[in-house]
Amino acid sequence: MTTKNYFEPALTPSDPSDTDRWIPGLIRTLREVVGTGEFVPLHQPEIGDVERGYVLDCIDSGWVSSVGRYVDQLEQMLVDYTGAAHAVAVVNGTAALHISLLLAGVQADDEVICPALSFVATANAISYCGAIPHFAEVESTTLGLDAEKLAAYLQDISVSDGNERRNRITGRRIAAVVPMHTFGHPVDLDALVDVCCRFDLPMVEDAAESLGSYYRSQHTGTFGQSAAISFNGNKIMTTGGGGAILTNDPVLAARAKHLTTTAKQPHAWAYHHDCVGYNYRMPNLNAALGCGQLGRLDEMRSRKRNLAESYRQALSSVPQVRWINEPPNCSSNFWLGAIVVDGGLEARDAVLAAANQAGIMSRPIWDLLSGLPMYRQCPGMDLATSCRLLEQIVCLPSSAALGTQSKMASPGAAGVG
Ligand SMILES: *Cc1c(COP(=O)(O)O)cnc(C)c1O
Repeated sequence: MTTKNYFEPALTPSDPSDTDRWIPGLIRTLREVVGTGEFVPLHQPEIGDVERGYVLDCIDSGWVSSVGRYVDQLEQMLVDYTGAAHAVAVVNGTAALHISLLLAGVQADDEVICPALSFVATANAISYCGAIPHFAEVESTTLGLDAEKLAAYLQDISVSDGNERRNRITGRRIAAVVPMHTFGHPVDLDALVDVCCRFDLPMVEDAAESLGSYYRSQHTGTFGQSAAISFNGNKIMTTGGGGAILTNDPVLAARAKHLTTTAKQPHAWAYHHDCVGYNYRMPNLNAALGCGQLGRLDEMRSRKRNLAESYRQALSSVPQVRWINEPPNCSSNFWLGAIVVDGGLEARDAVLAAANQAGIMSRPIWDLLSGLPMYRQCPGMDLATSCRLLEQIVCLPSSAALGTQSKMASPGAAGVG
């Protein structure tokens, strides 16, 4: 694992707004890494013969819906893979997050801290509880919640009566903190766990992007009270659509299972539901696909790490961009490779235009959640770093298949760094 130059911004003595001068070289460098394919998509799933076999077996068994042995098997495989004590498979990552928040006791009119720089699902899941997202700042090494700034901010704007913590300004209860591991890179979990302890707030990890990512050798999604994982088609492994809740708490795990299966009390034939439940259970058919995918997750992960290393080495020769590397003491799944482009919005957009024009699919990061119409009125701290990163980040093609290509085909990626 290399963390060399990790903290160094992509500063260059030349004028970075002079994009015509350096972008052609950047595109050539990217080409050397991603190979000669006419069009290189951002992220493609890989479905193999094992998955095919499991899905056919599932169809033949007749158990294609919300009960079946593949659901149980996938949950057990997740427990084995992540080291979490319990896993509950659900229909998607957003549902996993929704239930995780309910498990943390989030209620209507509560506020929940989450990063402004995240996929919309993070804030949506908070809204499904009737709660209000409260947007916090990220830092530029992990792209995740800035623990130090969050601590200072909570110190400033919140008060506790020894039982509940409230926002002094809005009067609403602050119910939880939801860090997100951006692109698979773990946030500074030690620091965030400390902040959550100090302010007595439960932590729910949005680990949708970080299956296969470790912080100090411990799998992400096992640090908070519970966590949400996603198996959407664009994630590191897929079940078509799907997700899972991870927790170490047996009571929460049982509650998660109950809430995601319409809150039906176990009984041989009667339908008795004891609270408002959700039809969030993952179908067996999707779980069959998931068992095949999870069986070769480590192999896909290792090719994604190869690809990341090729990007890192090749891009070290382009001073106008900084490759986003894994944070210190972390081993990332490198779900989505990304660069920080020096020179602001104009340079970023010029890179996006040139790369897409060249058939190298690339994307900006999500708009800040705090700017979306439905969340514009929500409380939030100073978001200067989030704003700056939004204007600088470009996501690059990251399919595991790209990590298989021979280094011989990419002379620019060899022998550098
Ligand atoms: C993908 C994703 C989700 C939601 O997962 P779905 O399975 O698409 O519902 C939530 N949060 C983040 C950060 C994600 O990237």
